[in-house]
This record gives sequence, structure tokens and C-alpha cells, in this order.
Amino acid sequence: MPAGDPPLTLRDLAGIKVTQLRGVGQRIAEQLLAVEISTVLDLIQHYPRRYLDRTRQAQIAELLVGDEAWVLGTVRSAKTRKLRGRRTLTNVVIGDGTGKLTLTFFNQHWRERQLKEGLELFVHGKLTLFRGERQMTSPVVDLIGDQPGKIVPVYPQSEKVGLTTSDLAGFIRSALERSRVRGFDDPVPGEVLDRFDFVDREAALYGIHLPESMAEMQEARRRLVFDELFRVQLELVRRKARIERRMSGVAHDMSGELVDRFHARLPFALTDAQRRVNAEIAHDLAVEYPMHRLLQGDVGSGKTVVAVTALLTAVEGGYQGAFMAPTEVLAEQHYLSVSDMLGDLSVPDPTSLLGDRPLRVELLTNSVGAAARRQVLDDLIVGQVDIVIGTHALIQEKVQYQSLGMVVIDEQHRFGVEQRAALRDKGESVGVPDVLVMTATPIPRTAAMTVYGDLDVSVLDEMPPGRSPIITSWAEGPIAESEVWETVRNEVAQGRQAYVVCPLIEESAVIEVHSVEDTYLELQSGELSGLRVGLLHGRVSPAEKEATMAHFRAGTIDVLVATTVIEVGVDVPNATVMVVFDADRFGIAQLHQLRGRVGRGEHQGLCYLLGDPSTNDGEARIEALVASTDGFELAEVDLELRGEGTIMGERQKGRNDLRLASLRRDKEWVSLAREVATGIIAQDPELTDHPELGVEVDLILGDNEAEFLMKS
Ligand code: ADP
Ligand code: MG
Repeated sequence: MPAGDPPLTLRDLAGIKVTQLRGVGQRIAEQLLAVEISTVLDLIQHYPRRYLDRTRQAQIAELLVGDEAWVLGTVRSAKTRKLRGRRTLTNVVIGDGTGKLTLTFFNQHWRERQLKEGLELFVHGKLTLFRGERQMTSPVVDLIGDQPGKIVPVYPQSEKVGLTTSDLAGFIRSALERSRVRGFDDPVPGEVLDRFDFVDREAALYGIHLPESMAEMQEARRRLVFDELFRVQLELVRRKARIERRMSGVAHDMSGELVDRFHARLPFALTDAQRRVNAEIAHDLAVEYPMHRLLQGDVGSGKTVVAVTALLTAVEGGYQGAFMAPTEVLAEQHYLSVSDMLGDLSVPDPTSLLGDRPLRVELLTNSVGAAARRQVLDDLIVGQVDIVIGTHALIQEKVQYQSLGMVVIDEQHRFGVEQRAALRDKGESVGVPDVLVMTATPIPRTAAMTVYGDLDVSVLDEMPPGRSPIITSWAEGPIAESEVWETVRNEVAQGRQAYVVCPLIEESAVIEVHSVEDTYLELQSGELSGLRVGLLHGRVSPAEKEATMAHFRAGTIDVLVATTVIEVGVDVPNATVMVVFDADRFGIAQLHQLRGRVGRGEHQGLCYLLGDPSTNDGEARIEALVASTDGFELAEVDLELRGEGTIMGERQKGRNDLRLASLRRDKEWVSLAREVATGIIAQDPELTDHPELGVEVDLILGDNEAEFLMKS
């Protein structure tokens, strides 16, 4: 690469195969491929897992028992012996000139081969004394080879293909050195670098791979984390802007008073949060861009009122609204509660004698008879139905609207891109309908910005007054458990009802059914004998399921033993107790959802988590549930415990660019990156004035990845 060529862009680096580096032949290229490195770009984005600070390593002689430290030493000897029961113990003695130390490993006899006499290695562990001998049990071992420098990067390595961290360090060093002549292009605008006092990209790449000090590494990391988050946000904001530009929606007329009349007839005042979110939505509805908004709110925070407010805004201006639920049962529940809320409201109708007519809300599910269905479908086409409630069938071809202007979707996770495309088609005649997606599984705001970056996010973060939070306890051990059943019997005696939830057994649906059935039989003949106990699980036929739910709703079943099929939205205000078996096997969000099934009426809700957690995380989850009833707080704990990997779920692919950045640790950078990206896209929607930035976003996020990010 002759000098005088322009600085290297990431695209240039992606075009250089690793085989072009000195010392990388076919065999090594294959090893590298096994860890998904094929180009120089992959290589320089293979960041160290951690660093060894030679300036801070301890000397063996100085270590006191109980100290935790990094020690640099040389292997003196390694020996494995057999213990009882097929176990092995490997003792490795190392020395550093000041003293000696024994490393012990159980069932890792391969260590004997790995840690040959004379090898230099870094170990981290806690110094203990065993029969007078100084030792570290199962220490972390890093073979750093002969890497120079005060700070030594330790790379994620692959024992399997035989790549060591010093091999990787060598290749990366040689890649960086080869690029030295041309240098690295920095596409991030100077104002942004100034604003955050960032080092330039070249300094960042050197600083992350070959730092002279830990401070330099931190600066490099800060910059690279920003770049990753910035690219993701640029892509999301750009796409969002494209949708907004391309699709013409409905500018709803906000001047009527239907919404006010609706609010006036509610038996309660709206919470401040409901008012705020209503205003956010109203703002979107008034403009011509189609709204695409996510409403996050804990169970019971009053999302339905907000949804109905949005639907009525559309109806008032002469449009129709659709309200979609994830299941038929939930659609029916929504139908009942929405009809009840709306009562005898009327809508303006210039063709009628009185100038208005009753508002018409209809249910459209399979349980509605064929003739009635036909009627609803016909009336939708001519605009005689104002609000229709059902499942996703509502946006299928068969259902035609006169003027669909507003769609509410309860529970976002089952609504994908295909459905969104279908919606676009529905709106052909009048414009793309506005969409409000509701979820009761809150995720932290910064995570939402990335996971649902193409949606605007509203949050109902306040509960209606006068509701006492559900009391949650962890019932550990037989005595506590028998008290739980006593409570269940007491509540039933007072006319209340209870749920008993058995864990989902992912490995086998058959085992799961057996286990629920066993629990059911056991409770019925034991702790709950004499009570009317019902059973519900995934293998029960829809008809039977509906019958059981109807009995429970009617109060002719006292206790419902079920799998998590009851997780979403079942609403029986008379149910006050939730008992969850093996609670440590559920996720935080799931437990919170389950708990939300009780305490929906006037009586105090109680939740008992049974279980004897076998993992620290399991215990931490139960403790979190006991400690907090705030869904957003729990979402933070969840993110803390699980890391972002699982939150992104099937959006995993979208994370490929997040190598250094963590949605958890780098929260504030997510917001800042979003802010900067929004500013740039507002001025330069297609990044034509920032071509290198555009190329980089396309390169790293690609079309497929971006599609994943957009799914919701
Ligand atoms: P979500 O769907 O968010 O779980 P809902 O919309 O079902 O919650 O509301 C839960 C209950 O709270 C309903 O009975 C509803 O009528 C009631 N509710 C909603 N908003 C308020 C409010 N501002 N004040 C009092 N009760 C309210
Ligand atoms: Mg709800």
C-alpha cells in the first residue's frame, strides 16, 4: 500500500483477506475462520477480553493468604494424580524468582500437557494454605506467550482450533502496523469528536489493542463503544425517517369532543401518566405521518383507557379503529371491558335525524357465529362498525374496512414485519393507519431504544391510585409451603379464588402435562381437598379450555391449576392468590406477568413463590420479585442478571455490531448516540453529506441485520 493513498475505511479493511498478512497461510486462515475472522476488519474488531497490567502484578513472595492477585510465573512442574471416584487432581508448581506456588485443578488432566515446564503464564486466583503449602485452586490461566508491553491484551481464544491469545495479538499487531502508512479514516464528524472529547479512530484502535496504559485503553474503549452504538442508531433513525417520509398516513381531526365525553364518563380520573401519554399520542395522530408507537406499561397501569382514547380520536374524525389481541380469549375480554367503558356513547353522524348515532363496537373471532361474522364483515366495509376487536385475523385479507385509521396491538411480540406490511395494504384508500403497540413487559428505556429503535416509546410509569401492591413472599421449605395452602383455603373460604402455576417443561410437552396433572391430583386429594379445583394446560382442547375459564370466571372453580397458559391477560378480579411452583425456573418478566393476574379487584393480592433455587440467578430472581412490584425496576434487574443477549432475543443478529458496547453498562451512550444520530438524520436523511458514515453503517449492519432490528 503506497503512501499517498487515502486513509483506510472500514470497507477497505473488510476487503483485505487475512491471508494477505505476513505469516498467515492457509492453515492459520482456517483456524481464524473458525472464530469468524476472515478479513482484516474482523481481526481488528476482535477485541481483547481483558488486559494484564504487568505494572501491577504481584510477586509470589509478597502474597498473603487470602489475597487475590495476578501472578506472572514460570512452570516448574506439573503432575496429575487419580482421586477416588474417577476424579483427578493436577498440581502445577510455578515460580517467579521470589517464591513458589502450587496451582490445583480438578478433573483437568489436560492441564498437564498444556502447562509444560518452562512455560511463562499469568494466573489469577486467591492464595490459600493447604497442609502448609501455598496454593491457588482453579485459578484463571492465561498463556500470553512472549507478548511485549506493560499492558498485555488477552484475546478470546479458541482452545479447539489451537489459536492462542499471543497468536491473535501477533496477527492484530501486524494488521495495525501494515495500516500505519495510510492510517485510518475517521467518518465521525469533528463536532461529535469534540463534543465528547473522543480520540480519533486510529488512536482508538491502537489504544484498544496495544495500550500503553489502562487509561489509554479506557479512552479507546469509550470511543469504540460510541461508534458501535452510533451506527446502530443511525440505521434505526434513518429507517424510521424513511418510513415516515414514504408513507402517508391520516392526519386525524382533533377538534371534536368524543374523547372528552369518554373521559368524563369514566368512574375515575386519569393518572398523570395516562394524560401525558394521551398527549404524546394525540400529537402523533394530528400529523400526517403514520404513528408507530410502543406503549410500555406495567400490568394494571391502565393501558386500555389510553388505547381506547386513541381509537376514539380516529372514530371521531370518521375513521375506523381495530384492536388486536394475541388470543381469542383476550380479544373477548377486551371486547367486554371496552364495551363496558364506552357504554352508550354516541358518535356524530350527519346522515342521522338526531345528528348522531350510537358508537358501534364489534367482536370478530371464531367463536362468533358465521352469520354474525358475515354481518360484522359487511358492516365494516360500509363503515357501520366503528371499532372492531379481535385477533390478528383483523388485518387478514378477508377483513375489509371502509376507512381504517387506527390500530391498537396488545402485546407486541407477535407482531412482525409481515403484519405491518398487511396494515399498509389495508390503508391504501385512506392512508396508512396509525399504530399503537402495547406491552406489559417493560424493558429499560435505553434497551428499548435499540431493540425497538424504529418505534417511538411511551411509558405509563404510574399506577392508578388506591391499589395496594401485591404482597409477594418466597415460601421456602415444607413449613412455609403448608402455610401457603392454608392461605389458599382461607381465601377460598372468604369467597376468593386462586391460581396455581406449574412450570413449563421445555424439554417435553408430555412430561409437562404429566407434571401439571400430577400436581393437580395431588392438591385435589391433599392440601386442597374439598375445594373445586380446575386444570388447564397446553394440551387441553380449546373448547375445554374455554369451558374451564368460563367456570373460573363465574366462580364455580375455586382454584385453577395451570401452566403458564394463563400468563397473558387473563382477568378475573376475584382471584387474589397466585402460587408459583419452582419459581426459580421462571424469568423475572414472566413471574411479574403471572403475579399481575391477581390483585386486580378490590381485595389484596398475594403471590407465593415456591422453590428451592439451585442457582444464584434463580435465587436472585425470586428475591427481586419479593423486593419490588415495579416492572421497570425489575426489567433493570433482569437486564443486569441476564445481560443484553437474551433481551435482544431473536434480534441477536442485530447485536453483531455490539462487540464492546453493552446496553447495560453503556446506557448513557445509547441515549447520546441516539441523540447525535437523530440530529444528523434530520439534516441529512440519507447520509449523502456523510458518505463514509453511510457506507460504514451499510457495511456493518447490512440489509439482513437491519431487517432484524426493524422487526417488532
Ligand atoms: P393494563 O391493560 O395496563 O394492564 P388496564 O387498562 O386493564 O390495565 O387497567 C386496569 C384496571 O385499572 C382497569 O380496571 C381500569 O378500569 C382501571 N383504571 C385504568 N385507569 C385508571 C385510573 N386512572 N384510575 C383508576 N383506575 C383506573
Ligand atoms: Mg391489558
